[in-house]
Amino acid sequence: MKRGFLNNKKAALYPKGESTTTVVVNPISAPPSNAIKAVAADREPAVQVMKVPHGKVKNTALPAGYIPTKPKMLSEAEAMRANQPAIITIPARSAGQPPDPDGHSEWIVNGTTKNKVINAPGYPQPVPKSPKGKSYEIKSTPTMGKGVFATRDIPMGEIIFAERPSIVSPRALKPISKVNPNDYSLADYTKILLFEREQQLEMAASRMEPETRARLMALQNSHKEDGSGPINGIVRTNGYQVMNLRDGDGEFKEGDSSNLHYYSVLCDVGSRINHSCIPNVTHAFKISAFSMVFMASRDIKAEEQLFFSYCGIHKSASDRKAELEPYGITQCICAACINATPETDTLRKTFSARVQAYKSQSLTWEQLPKGRKLPAETLDEMLRFQKAVVKEGLDVNDDYWTDFIPSLATAFRKAGKPSEEMMVIREFMKWGNYMKEKRAIRGLA
Ligand SMILES: [Zn+2]
Repeated sequence: MKRGFLNNKKAALYPKGESTTTVVVNPISAPPSNAIKAVAADREPAVQVMKVPHGKVKNTALPAGYIPTKPKMLSEAEAMRANQPAIITIPARSAGQPPDPDGHSEWIVNGTTKNKVINAPGYPQPVPKSPKGKSYEIKSTPTMGKGVFATRDIPMGEIIFAERPSIVSPRALKPISKVNPNDYSLADYTKILLFEREQQLEMAASRMEPETRARLMALQNSHKEDGSGPINGIVRTNGYQVMNLRDGDGEFKEGDSSNLHYYSVLCDVGSRINHSCIPNVTHAFKISAFSMVFMASRDIKAEEQLFFSYCGIHKSASDRKAELEPYGITQCICAACINATPETDTLRKTFSARVQAYKSQSLTWEQLPKGRKLPAETLDEMLRFQKAVVKEGLDVNDDYWTDFIPSLATAFRKAGKPSEEMMVIREFMKWGNYMKEKRAIRGLA
């Protein structure tokens, strides 16, 4: 469903006599963690959102007539006056003091958004730690380059690690020179935006410790042929979008398709986590510590590789394949893709609807007259569904826990199986604690 940006004619984007706001965004890999409902980036936006191209772009040369200039590093006050983002180090380095033991991030930040962080209660808090010491290692994999692996058993909900990002940059591309979009075709204007974003990223990276910068530059880049510069290519390949770091008010909401006010968060270890359609890791951004926290979204065994899903997991194998292409993944080799069948495609696509149907049915089971049990077939069918869902890895979905599991508990109770009901409730409470912790990390009550 990604828009074929290069096929759009400029005329269609700037209809005559109509003022359309066109914003060019820098697509990054990951939809907000676990927020399947929130993968709304492809819905019709209120403003015209153009995603920059990927793949092999024929002509990436800057348009004739555009004369690149060396951008100035603006102070925060100058940036504010010029309506430009500022490049800041966060937490700030203090002259004569050693660096923060948890590291610093370079942040290309708009307007007053920085205040959300520095005014957060407790800022700057230390980066959260895994409760049992270091729990991961980075190793080479036979087919996926480097990957991150658990070094011990990690139960669902536990923090695996957390880190300060290396670079945080706005999703929306804005020029830093006084270029006039009306002087160029949209394709040419996009080339300029990409060029100037790279200039900004280069300025940000020049402020890093050499070792941090070297680790950043060693990340995979699957945008080498589309006009993205080397650092922006890495941001596009490896950046995370988080739900609570944005310009303006509020968090990412269902139906909020704009994606415009959010930031791409590039990490060191976190950005080395590979993709699987059966993910076992989720993340939350802790504003007061300016850090990304990576947690187990299911029980993980020692030596298992950590995976995050870069694509919407409610999609068929072929739709996932198309969505993964910009990240250089031509064929996902997770168990769900290798073993995909028309049935597993249907299961993924109908998962939410089926969960909602069980939820509605379970309300009617509550009305069963005393002494009447739920038919055994109904329970069996639910258990078959659950088995298939777990096999497909869809059991990390919030819907699975908030709607299906309580319905299953009701089914067990109404089928006269109280010990099974208790088992399900115990699992549900484990998930509830994990959600509570995740919300606390994000600064939500
Ligand atoms: Zn897959």
